[in-house]
Amino acid sequence: MKIALLSRNHKLYSTRRLVEEAKRRGHEIQVIDALRAYMNIAAHKPTIHYKGEPLEGFDAVIPRIGASVTFYGAAVLRQFEMMGVYPLNESVAITRSRDKLRSMQLLSRKGIGLPITGFASKPDDIKDMIKMVGGAPLVVKLLEGTQGIGVVLAETQKAAESVIEAFMGLKANILVQEYIKEAGGADIRCFVIGGKIVASMERKAAPGEFRSNLHRGGNAKLIKITPEERSTAVRAAKIMGLSVAGVDLLRSNHGPVVMEVNSSPGLEGIETVTGKDVAGQIIEYLEKNAKEGRTKTKGH
Ligand code: ADP
Ligand code: GLU
Repeated sequence: MKIALLSRNHKLYSTRRLVEEAKRRGHEIQVIDALRAYMNIAAHKPTIHYKGEPLEGFDAVIPRIGASVTFYGAAVLRQFEMMGVYPLNESVAITRSRDKLRSMQLLSRKGIGLPITGFASKPDDIKDMIKMVGGAPLVVKLLEGTQGIGVVLAETQKAAESVIEAFMGLKANILVQEYIKEAGGADIRCFVIGGKIVASMERKAAPGEFRSNLHRGGNAKLIKITPEERSTAVRAAKIMGLSVAGVDLLRSNHGPVVMEVNSSPGLEGIETVTGKDVAGQIIEYLEKNAKEGRTKTKGH
């Protein structure tokens, strides 16, 4: 196969591993910085150029599109889809998963367990909003946050009110969520490829911290997940339309709840913790599925 890997940096662990495994399996792979690609959408034959050359003859494209470049990255991926190149994850599924509100609405509609969650932009009645999600303690999140930044635990009603007011003052969209205390500062990352969990790990927060992000001092270890957790993660990925996904779960008193479905899950943590060749399994998935014209949406 000839594979295009959309990634801004060839030195990143995930990028390096995918290149390594693709080559080891006898494929040709080119790392492409989507922001540097330019496209012709007016012609009958859609094209993409890169560094003065047309990108041609690809069988598959692996999108590793960072949250900050979703808009243009998805457009480049869509162009590959219009050319009939098979995407590991489709552009529509990626943009869908990047919209947290839309994702949670979709998941809840299909009966996936979620923490009780409220969204707000400019609520006039903050007290009612807090009541609606069951009162303090609550987790308040900035919608645009990553790596646990902008995720605040408000232990009392008063604290919740002031945090929400402060975020409102910044004109930020927020999400107000039931605090899953029983998760004990741990979450579970399930790595899904083609409807199967290929690896999973637990991330546990540093002492005195409730956020398990590795950037916040959390640490990761192997975990055995239950059949219910397995089916929840697999279903969540399927509902989002993602062939490859990192599904983050919390263990709550009311069963597993999905926090997030990530469309470009990192490989470093999961491969290190589990010792599994996840990159190789991704390439193997493409070997089985990448057929011309097999893109379902063609970017629609
Ligand atoms: P980010 O996308 O910035 O990582 P998350 O929503 O994943 O933000 O939250 C960061 C961490 O905070 C999670 O990994 C989890 O450990 C913890 N956390 C988030 N929401 C809740 C919640 N509702 N109850 C308990 N812990 C939570
Ligand atoms: N046609 C919509 C889309 O794929 C479906 C809505 C959804 O499932 O997100 O963009």
